Amino acid sequence: MSTASINGWCLTSTSTATASSTPRRPTLRPSSIVASLNSSPSPPTLIRNQPVFAAPVPLLNPSNWREDMGDKTYEEAIEALKKLLSEKGELKAVAAAKVDQVTAELKTSASGDSVERLKQGFIHFKKEKYEKNPALYAELAKGQSPKYMIVACSDSRVCPSHVLDIQPGEAFVVRNVANMVPPYDQIKYAGTGSAVEYAVLHLKVQEIVVIGHSACGGIKGLMSFPFDGTTSTDFIEDWVKIGIPAKKKVVAQHGSEPLGAQCTHCEKEAVNVSLGNLLSYPFVRDGLANKTLALKGGYYDFVKGTFELWSLNFELSPPLSV
Ligand SMILES: [Zn+2]
Repeated sequence: MSTASINGWCLTSTSTATASSTPRRPTLRPSSIVASLNSSPSPPTLIRNQPVFAAPVPLLNPSNWREDMGDKTYEEAIEALKKLLSEKGELKAVAAAKVDQVTAELKTSASGDSVERLKQGFIHFKKEKYEKNPALYAELAKGQSPKYMIVACSDSRVCPSHVLDIQPGEAFVVRNVANMVPPYDQIKYAGTGSAVEYAVLHLKVQEIVVIGHSACGGIKGLMSFPFDGTTSTDFIEDWVKIGIPAKKKVVAQHGSEPLGAQCTHCEKEAVNVSLGNLLSYPFVRDGLANKTLALKGGYYDFVKGTFELWSLNFELSPPLSV
């Protein structure tokens, strides 16, 4: 894989599949139509003077709670929390006060720094972007036709819209811990699978880009968890083990290096595992065969301020799956 670096970008050309130049829908509407959809200077209507949901902060770690809480309404959840806490005599006073506080917060109008931050953020967005790009948002009101599907980590530092200057309508984005694409599994991985299906079959994206990043906590977990049958997390270990083939490869090739260096290798190798897993989706294979779809791997290093992009050579790298 040869790599050339241009202004912090590393572009590698080993692609065997390229997207076709299938005509896309026009991206702009006539200005006369757009003008009628331009918004008034009135305050944003999405900011409402109504209670904002805030999950109660658990005072305890109730082992008997999780099984029956998932399908309850918020009101039922509060009642269940009251009941649970009331059964703990020593915490009764604290519990009652906490429940009152949580309930009051839920019933009052939006207030506090966190809500104000979101409110001001939306006001800024609407004034500086939404109202200044009426043609774009009028077009997006009709539908979406993104060129890319991007899989990125949930990490707060790696938002692809910021890092790649992706504009609304350009990318169908999935973000999860450690930017993993699991192998095709209709039962276990319906969440990611439905996103891939929708992007490929309905939105007809031309590229799926899986982007890893530096200092990824999910990858550090993957490299650190023993995976010996014991677990210390409810979900994380079972999720990041999707990347075990990457871990095995890194340990085999770089096992003598410090953990930090191994993690860096694994952050990139796990992207390749995800690209390989994408090949287990029939509609992805069809897209590659028909050259209407291409797969790319990316790596954003926010310490160095660099971004790498590469294509997987499927002839040399067979699909990997857990
Ligand atoms: Zn991450």
